[in-house]
Amino acid sequence: MLIAVASGKGGTGKTTVATNLAAALAGRAQLIDCDVEEPNIHLFLHPKIIHHQEVTKPIPQIDFEKCLFCGACQNICQFNAIAVLKNSVLTFPELCHSCGGCRAVCPTEAIREVPRLIGRIETGWAGELGVITGRLMVGEPMAPPLIRAVKRQIDKTKIVIIDAPPGTSCSVIQSLRNCDFCLLVTEPTPFGWHDLKLAVATVRQMGIPFGVVINRADIGSGEVEEWCAEEGVPILLKIPFQREIAVAYSRGQLLLDLDPAWKRIFLELCQRVQKLSGRKSGGEGAETDNCS
Ligand code: SF4
Ligand code: SF4
Repeated sequence: MLIAVASGKGGTGKTTVATNLAAALAGRAQLIDCDVEEPNIHLFLHPKIIHHQEVTKPIPQIDFEKCLFCGACQNICQFNAIAVLKNSVLTFPELCHSCGGCRAVCPTEAIREVPRLIGRIETGWAGELGVITGRLMVGEPMAPPLIRAVKRQIDKTKIVIIDAPPGTSCSVIQSLRNCDFCLLVTEPTPFGWHDLKLAVATVRQMGIPFGVVINRADIGSGEVEEWCAEEGVPILLKIPFQREIAVAYSRGQLLLDLDPAWKRIFLELCQRVQKLSGRKSGGEGAETDNCS
């Protein structure tokens, strides 16, 4: 079972939910940090890293000895990643989507592909919990290729918790793709409510079953809960607004460290997710989905 933890905006408590849910499941889970621009689950779980992997994407390199400056490569590129001048060809690797089109149309085989480092994947363990973290290179604008590489590390024998990037961008879509359920974490503020509506529209469009977790549930006016009731969106967990929770978070502690009762709460959350996702009724991998 693949459970994505997402949010319409940053700072709502998404990583708190992902890390505590994974820690409650421990050896039955695998935690994947797909928030590759700003991964932070390591701050709470301190995994022991056992493997580093570099992730590259192929980009074009021009052999000017063979180039006719014909412009065919520029014409086919849909991303303005290559520009042909009178006596030169400029490439813009950060815009390149590695489609291979320019190389395919070049009449003189003047283009070859060279690897460009876009990020790294760290594999580690936090006790029995397997932790995979993607880290995008600073200045690299395209996260989806790295997120795809990170998701290739998924262990289908586990309950996989995916910490998705915030928002509703391509990176989020890539992180949510093929997930069985999405937990949308929000806070009961006007900003939280606004961005929750965008996130709900996104997961509905993708056809992914979902439910809401409200963090700092005691603040605000109740509009988020009223809207969820009107829309038929299940609220699966409310995390209270408490000083000790904020202090624990600032120290990089889990809720499970604060009070062992949170383990039961997160296991019950997993059971509700399992039920709503329909995984309990069987299907590939369902025998590995036991949250209890
Ligand atoms: S298609 Fe090939 S030959 Fe034509 S401008 Fe591009 S690199 Fe040069
Ligand atoms: S590989 Fe594709 S995206 Fe990249 S420069 Fe060539 S045509 Fe453009």
